[in-house]
Amino acid sequence: MTETVSNWAGNIIFAAKELHRPRSLDALRSLVAASGRVRVLGSGHSFNEIAEPGADGVLVSLDALSGDVGVEVDTAARTVRVGGGIRYAELARRVHEHGLALPNMASLPHISVAGSVATGTHGSGVGNGSLASAVREVEIVTADGSTVVIGRGDRRFGGAVTSLGALGVVTALVLDLEPGYEVEQHVFTELPLDGLDFETVAAAAYSVSLFTDWGAPGFRQVWLKRRTDEPLVDFPWATPAVEAQHPVPGMPAVNCTAQFGVPGPWHERLPHFRAEFTPSSGNELQSEYLLPRRHATEALYAIDGIRQTVARVLQICEVRTVAADEQWLSPSYGRDTVAFHFTWVEDTTAVLPTVRAVEAALEPFEPRPHWGKVFEMPAGVVRTRYPRIDDFTALARVLDPAGKFTNAFVQDVLES
Ligand SMILES: Cc1cc2nc3c(=O)[nH]c(=O)nc-3n(C[C@H](O)[C@H](O)[C@H](O)COP(=O)(O)OP(=O)(O)OC[C@H]3O[C@@H](n4cnc5c(N)ncnc54)[C@H](O)[C@@H]3O)c2cc1C
Repeated sequence: MTETVSNWAGNIIFAAKELHRPRSLDALRSLVAASGRVRVLGSGHSFNEIAEPGADGVLVSLDALSGDVGVEVDTAARTVRVGGGIRYAELARRVHEHGLALPNMASLPHISVAGSVATGTHGSGVGNGSLASAVREVEIVTADGSTVVIGRGDRRFGGAVTSLGALGVVTALVLDLEPGYEVEQHVFTELPLDGLDFETVAAAAYSVSLFTDWGAPGFRQVWLKRRTDEPLVDFPWATPAVEAQHPVPGMPAVNCTAQFGVPGPWHERLPHFRAEFTPSSGNELQSEYLLPRRHATEALYAIDGIRQTVARVLQICEVRTVAADEQWLSPSYGRDTVAFHFTWVEDTTAVLPTVRAVEAALEPFEPRPHWGKVFEMPAGVVRTRYPRIDDFTALARVLDPAGKFTNAFVQDVLES
């Protein structure tokens, strides 16, 4: 059978001829053991070829496996075990039913947990690590079809979660939970760049996002997500929005989570986009660069210096923060981070020169590109940004000696 499989954005058509959907763990094990090259496709929300197994490889979806491993909440231990195909929307709903919560979420709940933590996906908040920080254990089906379990405390754990899918098929993850909490979302408009005290603004709430289209210096919108169990901080630097906002100009605000300070459960406020609507604009490419937070203001001025070039192909730019984490391949590994995200127009040819211009402007700050988004930075440069990359390569060689789970994207980074 031949089918066309593409990513969510439609800019990547996978060369693999078929998407395999095993219905049981045993069927998955047999498929893996019998195949030469295997990659998993999560919810397909990455914008590059990170999931591509190549024309002769096997692309696997775990969507049909939820009967074997779904969402199992342990209220006493405050943990949840999720299957490798589960998306955050379902996970969050189930966890909330038990009066528990995750510490943070990305801008959308549509993405799979395993695929998100594999690429270092993050939300915002000076005290919030990437989504991988909540993971305490991973179960991986390795090349011969057997399962390896790696938990916190295991010396391999630093490579096991943000793994780019290069160690095997993640069939389950155990995540830490905390007691449920409520969040209010307050949206402001027109925050000037001149005089910006980035550290203070970024710490004004549990999760803070700044949005600009770079048509003018400064930010069109600021989204503050305040936990109701934390103090309300005054935000005198921008104007409270008078109508509901969507971060992307021209898109309907009804797609977004509730604003105007109406308190609601964590999972209905931390993402910007509601699970039942298309997130973001839907017709787009994305890039993102993560750099040390102490450089935030200088880096903002560096992008401001090429603002007209950026604005020509930009839908929206979002600036967030991520606390340092300990996953060797996490773009926020070991560095309290500021993340510069760009939602581009849906035109690769038009966008790539600007991607290179952004990378050149940010280069003095040693940016790490988001693994799931468009970047042009040579793999050899990316390598230098990860002090533990050789440890990861060694771990991959032990768990996957024949390179069954590698692909051109991963090989480039690990071996350039
Ligand atoms: C509209 C939109 C908004 C976004 N917002 C954010 C955001 O707020 N923050 C952010 O950081 N990123 C964001 N992203 C990027 C997104 O979070 C990442 O691309 C993430 O990897 C998506 O998860 P996925 O399941 O779709 O992964 P996929 O693209 O399907 O896969 C990513 C990688 O994970 C591997 N993988 C997936 N599942 C498994 C598994 N079970 N076992 C082994 N390997 C696996 C794949 O092989 C691949 O290498 C956004 C993307 C979109 C389209």
